[in-house]
Amino acid sequence: MSINDELLEQVYHENCPGCKVDRRKRIQTGLPIKELICIWVVVLCVGEYIAYYLYLYVKNRINE
Ligand SMILES: [Zn+2]
Repeated sequence: MSINDELLEQVYHENCPGCKVDRRKRIQTGLPIKELICIWVVVLCVGEYIAYYLYLYVKNRINE
């Protein structure tokens, strides 16, 4: 068995994060909806924070 064959043969270890991600990538087809929703929630929270900061900034500038 050559080195190439050993690399092609997939060996999954138990409790190995890299192997879990690798297996999920092989199984999954289409859009990763769960991951996208998670990222979208984070984006919304950060966006709200920035909007509130800008609101306070503009309000203070007007009051000066
Ligand atoms: Zn592994």
